[in-house]
Amino acid sequence: MIVPPVTNPTFNEMFYASLQTPPYGERVRTCLQCGMCSGICPYGYLMDFPPGRMIAALRSEIFDRVLKTDTVWMCIACYACTEACPSGIPLTEKLMTRAKEELILAGQVPAELQLAFENSQRYGNVLGQSPRKRADWTKGIQATVPVLGKDKKSAEVLWYVGDYASYHPRSQSISRAFAHILNALHVDFAILGPEESSDGDSQRLAGERGLFEMLAQKNAQALRKFKFKEIITTDPHAFNAFKNAYPTLGITYPVRHATQFLAERLTQLKPLLKRPVNGKVTFHDPCYLGRANNIYDEPRALLQAIPGVELVEMSHSAKTSLCCGGGGGGMWLDGFQWEKAHTRTSEWRIREAVAVGATTLAVACPYEPPRFEDAIKTIREASGMEVRDVIELLAESMEQ
Ligand code: SF4
Ligand code: SF4
Repeated sequence: MIVPPVTNPTFNEMFYASLQTPPYGERVRTCLQCGMCSGICPYGYLMDFPPGRMIAALRSEIFDRVLKTDTVWMCIACYACTEACPSGIPLTEKLMTRAKEELILAGQVPAELQLAFENSQRYGNVLGQSPRKRADWTKGIQATVPVLGKDKKSAEVLWYVGDYASYHPRSQSISRAFAHILNALHVDFAILGPEESSDGDSQRLAGERGLFEMLAQKNAQALRKFKFKEIITTDPHAFNAFKNAYPTLGITYPVRHATQFLAERLTQLKPLLKRPVNGKVTFHDPCYLGRANNIYDEPRALLQAIPGVELVEMSHSAKTSLCCGGGGGGMWLDGFQWEKAHTRTSEWRIREAVAVGATTLAVACPYEPPRFEDAIKTIREASGMEVRDVIELLAESMEQ
């Protein structure tokens, strides 16, 4: 009998196999090469291998060529390709993320992204701040914000605040506004304070799976110490982590985004919304609330409850929303992406808001106000436009 020689699988075969984990991974074989993913991708025109071409490279067994380019780092994990794909291939979660993982293994990581990874590992947050200062945003505010372990042992609601809403000077305003609203609604809530770590979801989608798992386990360890009924968060990336990514590690908690939580309480909230917020408001759907998790109506219902608000829609809205550029590591790739593109998706978005005559761009993610406010500075026609989180607008309307 002739025994066939044992051949080791090629890298291409191993990569292909690693993509094909059920229930969706096997769909990668069903690619039609229609090009819709590449066409809809905001930076597809700059990528040597946009998603469809990457699959063609896999089929031709030349995937190693993909790894010789670094344009995969133009992927901002916006889910537009996943949404558009007629074969239902999980391009964002699987293909693009796996390609980034391989680039990391090959040591091809832009320096600014590497710094965010190092900060996450060393300090438990991407901004490189002291973990002890995680609840400093609560200092000097009127609202009461109990910290679990310090002020109480249990609460109905555990508010997971997240990195940007805890530390970024602009995004802290969203946290203060949400604390004010929770107090006004008499919600029994608490935060983790210094025990909270980065949710790790953007690091995962930027290809750092190991770091994501470490951060998820740290959060799980902290959460296990306390009693609560559900988690709420103002951060769609954290929401996505708790809803979709942590359960793959056996960490399961009921979770809602703050806009869902508040929309459910509209009857209680509406009489408190007394001060008009006059102007034309347009809503930017964050990718991790919208396309990734199908939450479109709740933020709009909240905006429409505010007296004086005239809600208008931009040309890209809801499922077709245009990414702010901050997802999947984009927050920490601004310099790299600017070098390649000499433009930012946040600037395109502001131009769309100008086109519908909006005076306020409403958002629902702590990543977004700093990105869009920077973009406004570069567009003359947008001067005077404000960026407000839905939570901030609600709190403003509650002021006497
Ligand atoms: S949209 Fe889907 S089917 Fe079409 S080329 Fe892209 S991956 Fe293939
Ligand atoms: S997730 Fe967004 S940025 Fe990444 S490849 Fe798909 S469309 Fe392009």
